[in-house]
Formats: sequence, C-alpha cells, structure tokens
Amino acid sequence: MAKPDSKFPTFETVIYDEPRSGVARVTLNRPEKRNAQNMQMTYDINSAFDFAVQQPHVKVIVLAAVGEHFSSGHDLSGDGDKTWRDFPIVGTWANFDMPGAEGRYSREMEIYLEITERWRNLSKPIIAQVQGKCVTGGLMLAWCSDIIVASDDAKFICTSTKMGGSGVEFWAYPWEIGPRRAKQWMLTGELSAAKAEQYGMVNEVVPRAELEAFTLDLAEKLCTHTSWTLNMTKATINHTQDVQGRRVSMQHAFAVHQLGHAHRVLVHGAAIDPNTLPENIRAHFDKRAPRAGDPAKASAAE
Ligand code: ZN
Repeated sequence: MAKPDSKFPTFETVIYDEPRSGVARVTLNRPEKRNAQNMQMTYDINSAFDFAVQQPHVKVIVLAAVGEHFSSGHDLSGDGDKTWRDFPIVGTWANFDMPGAEGRYSREMEIYLEITERWRNLSKPIIAQVQGKCVTGGLMLAWCSDIIVASDDAKFICTSTKMGGSGVEFWAYPWEIGPRRAKQWMLTGELSAAKAEQYGMVNEVVPRAELEAFTLDLAEKLCTHTSWTLNMTKATINHTQDVQGRRVSMQHAFAVHQLGHAHRVLVHGAAIDPNTLPENIRAHFDKRAPRAGDPAKASAAE
C-alpha cells in the first residue's frame, strides 16, 4: 500500500502518490476509523484531487483506501477541536453556525452535496477501488468516481433509511441502479459486490488479493488515450445524465434530506431518530443534557 513520498504533497488523512506513469492515487488513510470521513478528510481529498488535476502528466486518478474497509461513512464523532472555520470553504455556502435549519443546510451543502458534485465533475476520470464495507456517506465517494472496481467481499450498505432518513446528501441511488432496485436497496440496506455489478453500479468485481493490481492495470490502460479523449468522454457522459435531470433530482432529494433533519429535531430533538439507534448509542443519547433547539429533550426534562 501507498507510503508518503517526499516528492508529493502530504495530508493528514489521505496519501497521494503516483504508482504508475500517468496515474495519480488518492488513498483514504484512517484505517483505525474504517476510513470514516470527517471534515479533515473531506478537505484533504479535495486538495489531493486538485493537485492531481493540476499535474499535466497525470491522466487518471485512483481513489483507494487503506485497511479492511473502503469507508464507514461520515464521521459522526466530528473533528475534535476543529470547526468549519479551520478549513477553506470551496463552495458558495457559508455561515454554518446559523440557528435552526439554516446552518445545517448550508454546512451539508458545502461538505456533502457540492463538494461531492465537484469531485464528480473533475476534468480527469476517477477509478474507485473498493474493498470491504462501503457504508452510507462512503457511497458518495464511490459514486463520484467514473469507474468502480470492487473486491468480491465488498458490500454497499445504506444505513440512512435505518436511522429514520431517506438517503444520503448526494442522492444518486436511482441514477446508479434504476428506481425499483434503488427502492429495494434503500429499504433493505445492503448490496453485495455481485449484485452491484449485475445492477451496473460496479464495473468489475475481482478477488481482494488482485484488487490493487487490477485497478492500476485498468488505470494504466486508460492512459493509452489522450487526455482530450479521457476528459471529453467523461464530460459528455456526465452531461448526458445531467440533461436527463440528475442534478435537479438530486437537489430536490437534498432539500428532502434537510427537511428530514429538521423534522427529527422537532419530533425527537436530534437530527437522527434515537429510536433507530443501537442500544449503547441510544443510552448515550438519552443521558445527554437538553440543548437549544431540542424541544423533545427540553420537555422530557421538565
Ligand atoms: Zn445530513
């Protein structure tokens, strides 16, 4: 697996290297957290992608992950002492501390919807190399890629619906596998690598031991094309989905996602439904003090 190399920029939570001629690789590197994506990782991925795009000799980008699992999704434990003010805003929404639904809407627009859309629209093609579990927010990282190669033990898991929601912020489910399959997947929660390949979400499924070599060989094969062919083929296919309504559909889904957060704050006093949490996490939720904007907890404490 990739090791930091002094020739390349270094990041706290991802590794950048160029393992083959013309191929840049961005590797998620929080294996102790199953590569949970906090803000640090979000902005590290963004900076590493930007660096790759700006290297004239790089034609293709691989998005890989250290450890047993590709990604356990968004890191709900946060970034320690860091706040959004510690990171450079790359989108057009800000002031994430605003009260009510406004702050969350703006923040999730920046760090989930718009930044993932930005990666989906990188000029250079991205190949995702997925092993183990790819959970909820992790799906967004696979989906913003142009080609997905998965190991045969990969599992694509949606927990948003199990927590009282209706899907992640970058809501690509039916665009990835079609409406009926998306409904079944979202409401049952898990898609094997084989099913994901059968449904057209995954391009190739290979044994875990061959995953890295297979992905790099594929990336190298793409590099035989000119950058014009690579970038314009990607852009044209992406535009085809966009004129079919993908972007508008996903903006609507994002608004519903935010309405869901606001609904659950009104009903349960939390952005996720505590009744859906595993017992140990539920106990932690029940013990915490009531706080502003938390009417259910406030009335329960009275
Ligand atoms: Zn959300």
